[in-house]
Amino acid sequence: MNKQTLAQIHKSLAERKSQLERELSSFATKDSKPEGDWDTKYPSIPGANLEDSAGEVEEYSTNLPIEYSLETQLKQINKAIQKIQDESYGTCEDCKQGISQERLLANPEAEYCQECAAKHSF
Ligand SMILES: [Zn+2]
Repeated sequence: MNKQTLAQIHKSLAERKSQLERELSSFATKDSKPEGDWDTKYPSIPGANLEDSAGEVEEYSTNLPIEYSLETQLKQINKAIQKIQDESYGTCEDCKQGISQERLLANPEAEYCQECAAKHSF
C-alpha cells in the first residue's frame, strides 16, 4: 500500500473517531480508567418528579446498547490507528497475510482478510 492511500485511510479513521466521540459525548462521559471506556450518564437530577425520572431511566436503557456499539466501533478504529503508527496496518490478525487495499478502503478498521473474516463469521 502506498503512503498516499495509507494517509487517506488514516484521515478517514481520524474523522470517524471524532464523529464517534462526539456522538458518545452527547449522552455518555469518557472514562479514563480503563482508557477508551465510556459510561452512559445515569440520570440523577435531585428534585425531579417521578414521571420525569422514569423517562430518563428509559432513555438510559435505550442508550446503553448504543453506547456499547459506538464504543466497540471506536475501539476498532483506535486499534487501526495504532497499527498505522506501528506500521503493522493492513495485516490480517489471523493468517498474517496482507489485507486487500479494496477491502481496507471499504472497511478501514478491518482486522482480517476477506477469507479469514468469512471463516470467523458463522
Ligand atoms: Zn487472513
